[in-house]
Amino acid sequence: MSDDRRARAWAAAAAVVDPELPALTIADLGMLRDVTLAGDTIEVTITPSYTACPAMVVIGWEIEAALARAGLGPVRISTVLAPPWTSAWLSPEGRAKLAAAGIAPPPTAPADPGLFAVAAPACPRCASLATERISAFGATACKSLHRCLACREPFEAFKAHGDGSISNTASRDVLS
Ligand SMILES: [Zn+2]
Repeated sequence: MSDDRRARAWAAAAAVVDPELPALTIADLGMLRDVTLAGDTIEVTITPSYTACPAMVVIGWEIEAALARAGLGPVRISTVLAPPWTSAWLSPEGRAKLAAAGIAPPPTAPADPGLFAVAAPACPRCASLATERISAFGATACKSLHRCLACREPFEAFKAHGDGSISNTASRDVLS
């Protein structure tokens, strides 16, 4: 019975979207870390991505609302900062949704953590690797703006973020 309640709470929380990336849920982004039961209280643990703190407040409200709609509660939102979120926590579904939205997903493995070298993202339209960066910032801070030299189309890329070496091992195994 309590396992069922936890599973329903996880499903409700997992469906909450990031207000800055409405195509992606917090589960797609790897921000939903855990759902546990503490007596009657459902504790939802989230780790903020780099999409800024105001979004985290909204996401907290959205989780509470989603669980209330599912007839679940009371809810406590717990924010955990360590280990820090990295874009390597994006789920395969999240990466596919980014690509479907015309946004190049971040590289799965940081090329060399010792350098700030960033691999050029592939064009989400024609898959060409011949792309150039136009701007470090796209419509939101988590994306950069690029142009494909093959098909000439501009596109956004989801920035790689965080130190891959301390990321969630299970998630990285799935991604690599
Ligand atoms: Zn292209």
